[in-house]
Amino acid sequence: MQEIVKGFLNFQQNVFPERKDLFKRLASNQNPKALFISCSDSRLVPELVTQSEPGQLFVIRNAGNIVPPFGPEPGGVSATIEYAVLALGVTEIIICGHSNCGAMNAIASNADLESMPAVDHWLHYANAAKAWWMSVTTIPLKCVLMRW
Ligand SMILES: [Zn+2]
Repeated sequence: MQEIVKGFLNFQQNVFPERKDLFKRLASNQNPKALFISCSDSRLVPELVTQSEPGQLFVIRNAGNIVPPFGPEPGGVSATIEYAVLALGVTEIIICGHSNCGAMNAIASNADLESMPAVDHWLHYANAAKAWWMSVTTIPLKCVLMRW
């Protein structure tokens, strides 16, 4: 926790003053280029991998970068997409997976998630995609995920 606090203080004292004009402009308005949907995994940082500046990406992050069917699901994915498209006028949507994803590995291996009921429920939103994959190929999903 000390490292996080130290980083935040560094941002406040050094980074923010150096980029004051950018943050002042963003304080009252945003005009992101794209909606970027990615996993919550700590190793994947959307702004870093796309070399984007603050204000350029509208971001959704969740376990497995899953987009449930449109509706009032608890994760708020539909609401965030709706806001990005209708309120902000975002026209580009990127869904970005990553290698060695715990969520995708759990789906591919039919992991027993009885001890994590919320995760188990969330990953069920990927059932349609998994069923589609299995209907179009005999390549095990686990093999495909390990290649990326
Ligand atoms: Zn992941």
